[in-house]
Amino acid sequence: MAIISANEKTAYRGYSKTQVRYAMTYVLITSVVLIILNIYCSGISQKLFYQSKESSMIEKCQLASDEIANLEVLNSTTVAGAVSQMESLKITRLIVTNQNGVVLYDSSGSDLGNYMLLPEIFQAIAITEEAPTGSDVFSWHYHNGITDSRAATPIVSYGTIVGCVYMTEHDTAQGALIQSLEYTVLRITLLLEIIVILFSVAFANTFSRRLNRVMASMRIIQEGDYSHKLEMGGNDELTVLANEFNDLTERLQTSERKRSRFVSDASHELKTPLASIKLLTDSILQYDMDLETVREFVGDIGDEADRLNRMTEKLLSLTKAEAPPSDESEIIYMAPTVQRVARMLRQNAIEAGITFHLALEEDCPVLILEDDLYQIVFNLMENGIKYNVSSGSLTVRLHRAEDNAILEVSDTGMGIPEEALPHVFERFFRVDKARSRATGGSGLGLSIVRTIVQRNRGEITVSSVMGQGSTFTVTFPAFDTEVDKS
Ligand code: ADP
Repeated sequence: MAIISANEKTAYRGYSKTQVRYAMTYVLITSVVLIILNIYCSGISQKLFYQSKESSMIEKCQLASDEIANLEVLNSTTVAGAVSQMESLKITRLIVTNQNGVVLYDSSGSDLGNYMLLPEIFQAIAITEEAPTGSDVFSWHYHNGITDSRAATPIVSYGTIVGCVYMTEHDTAQGALIQSLEYTVLRITLLLEIIVILFSVAFANTFSRRLNRVMASMRIIQEGDYSHKLEMGGNDELTVLANEFNDLTERLQTSERKRSRFVSDASHELKTPLASIKLLTDSILQYDMDLETVREFVGDIGDEADRLNRMTEKLLSLTKAEAPPSDESEIIYMAPTVQRVARMLRQNAIEAGITFHLALEEDCPVLILEDDLYQIVFNLMENGIKYNVSSGSLTVRLHRAEDNAILEVSDTGMGIPEEALPHVFERFFRVDKARSRATGGSGLGLSIVRTIVQRNRGEITVSSVMGQGSTFTVTFPAFDTEVDKS
């Protein structure tokens, strides 16, 4: 059952912080982008209005200036007469000055005869190298929905500046247009911002909900429920994380299953000799026995104790074999080790009536710990003697095949039934329990061999024919030089 512990609350607070941080980041980024966009749009629209106003005002000024330049005499009467001809100007104020800035005509009538010291007029009639006959001047201000435009053009007659036309225009219609455009952009910006905020909150929510599921699953696994699977839809990093997580829990589950099977197998195996010892001691204690029978029973107890001893030693070897490969591995030639094992087992072989045949090529270097290689050869040869027939033989071959060094241990024994072959390397597996027990077998020897072989990048296979014998083949990559070792 899934149990989620109490400190989950703290964790959830942590996620919501992440959620707020994500949402705030999105909102901040989009706000900055939208503000920049807003300023840009408003700037562009004002520039467009400025350009259109500039060309229309300068055109009007030039029109008036051309008209006035045609006058023979330039005074307030003649200018007023010329201006009255130009009805279509539609401007707020029109001022005409002479070349000294004295007002000859003012549509408002307020500054007639005065000096008009406006910067636009000064600039328009100023003679420079680049503009020997003055220049057109335009200035434009926009504030509070009103555009205020000013334009000045020199009046040039026969190449000489004789006066200046100055116009002003307060345009509320254009100002209102700019204002409404700015409001529209602002409204769109606000709407977009609201949408972004909603999306950010929704996205951050979904993300943190998915993250919470991963965290909750981790907690369930921590509680020991390795069967739990994390379901995560979508196609993003979190889905990949969920898949990796499920792989991990599956591996945990498998190793947990193996561990509990090993514990139950080992206790079962250890229980049998212990039960025999108990039975034998009870018999000695309960029944009147002659000394000879008691000796026999105590001898049996000793045998069972030996078996227990062998079993625990093998279990220790197995644990050692499962450790990661040692850094102390070195390149060694296999033949001397095989010869050492043969010498060690010669007495057992003689007692069982088995003959050894050794066909050892010297050139078989492998990268391994000497003790590991000894253990492999010893277990295989010991089995070859144990499960052989009397006056049978045991052949050990060592040879090279391409980049591999191959060890073959063949006996002429009883053989292994076909259906048992896939299981012989499993822990505590015995083909014939009674016979194996009689020969002191624990069912761990081949399992230790396979573990050591695989740990040293090797492979082990077995082939057998019932009644004819079995062959165990161990293949290691051959290590010829020091360079190979790296
Ligand atoms: P044990 O300690 O019982 O010998 P092993 O793991 O070495 O355990 O072997 C597992 C089983 O495989 C043995 O009990 C035996 O039945 C079978 N076996 C192993 N080697 C041979 C062989 N050379 N010939 C026939 N059977 C064998």
